[in-house]
Amino acid sequence: MKVLVINCGSSSLKYQLIDMENESVIAKGLCERIGIDGSMLTHQPVNKDKYVVEKDMPSHKEAIELVMSALTDAEHGVIKDTSEINAIGHRVLHGGMKFTQSIVVNEQVKEVIRECFDLGPLHNPANLMGIEACEAAMPGTPNVAVFDTTFGMSMPEKAYMYAIPHEYFEKYSIRRYGFHGTSHMFVSGETIKFAELDPENAKVIVCHLGNGASISASIGGKCVDTSMGLTPLEGLIMGTRSGDVDPAVVQFICNKENLTVNEVLNILNKKSGVLGMSGGVSSDFRDIEAAKEAGNHLAKVAMDAYIYRVVKYIGAYTAAMNGVDAIAFTAGLGENDKKTRKEICECLSYLGVKIDDEANDIRGQKRIISAADSKVKVVLLPTNEELAIARETVALV
Ligand code: AMP
Repeated sequence: MKVLVINCGSSSLKYQLIDMENESVIAKGLCERIGIDGSMLTHQPVNKDKYVVEKDMPSHKEAIELVMSALTDAEHGVIKDTSEINAIGHRVLHGGMKFTQSIVVNEQVKEVIRECFDLGPLHNPANLMGIEACEAAMPGTPNVAVFDTTFGMSMPEKAYMYAIPHEYFEKYSIRRYGFHGTSHMFVSGETIKFAELDPENAKVIVCHLGNGASISASIGGKCVDTSMGLTPLEGLIMGTRSGDVDPAVVQFICNKENLTVNEVLNILNKKSGVLGMSGGVSSDFRDIEAAKEAGNHLAKVAMDAYIYRVVKYIGAYTAAMNGVDAIAFTAGLGENDKKTRKEICECLSYLGVKIDDEANDIRGQKRIISAADSKVKVVLLPTNEELAIARETVALV
């Protein structure tokens, strides 16, 4: 069975064709600058040369058509005909409270994705365009929506309700949803299998530390808490997002700088995090660490604060679950930065966490990195959201 996985952004479309017999990627690629001058497709078939097409893509419809012709191209393609694609799995950002799991797309599902435009204004419209473009290009092939928010749907009320007047929840569904859900679901599930934990009761904390960063607590693979909220702004310090701040900061900056709430939120989303804290060094953690090594005090404070926030959340989630069996690291920083993993783990000695330096000396590969006598297993587990989406798709079709 072959599954095409589609991840649409407002001006981009990423895809992977996966053979689910052995869960291997057959081809992947990216359409960039959709709706903007200079659009192009980069198609990478496995075991063949990269193929770049520069062609106008006024909308996601043309982008999907270009992907289909690349996949079936006589020279660069990997399938003879699009009928070889059995199903399409779409990453959809926000499913609101209606979807507690992935679902085969029909008109009602599309309507709910549309109703959630307010909650995911940058992503949901693009996600819907991707679905409709696939429906037009491959009529009859099932489309499955895999929501970034469904993992957080198992949170109990005490974890997802904000302490604000209840009418706002009733009127506007304002609550904590959590994001990176597909990654947290994949990594927590794989950690349970890989570390041979009890599938029903294992208490796992997943640290998804990328440019966007979030952390989740789950029991038996079901989310009980996660750090992102109504939007991805809440929680950990990120590359450019502030994570948790006192909301009064917004009002204060508005008044002092004569800015609107939207403008300050833009600052909290795009100009804060380690980029803002370091005085503008970079949003890339490699640059922050290099600046810190070179003696830049603000870069040091940014990195220290980043680690401190992760450590505080791990402590909070261990308390929330009354224990923890495994801590997993994933995403760009989590998979590649042994120093940060070690520094975080060293702050967790009170939990009996002991890192094995030799095992931790690795990048991007699944491995237990804690010492044999560590009370908590620490795991490096590369995330694979595309595979998780493909698995969900297969399960539903
Ligand atoms: P992602 O959003 O998962 O693609 O992660 C991107 C982030 O991972 C960037 O901020 C990178 O700086 C960070 N990253 C990747 N490799 C390393 C590394 N070796 N050390 C520190 N950070 C890294």
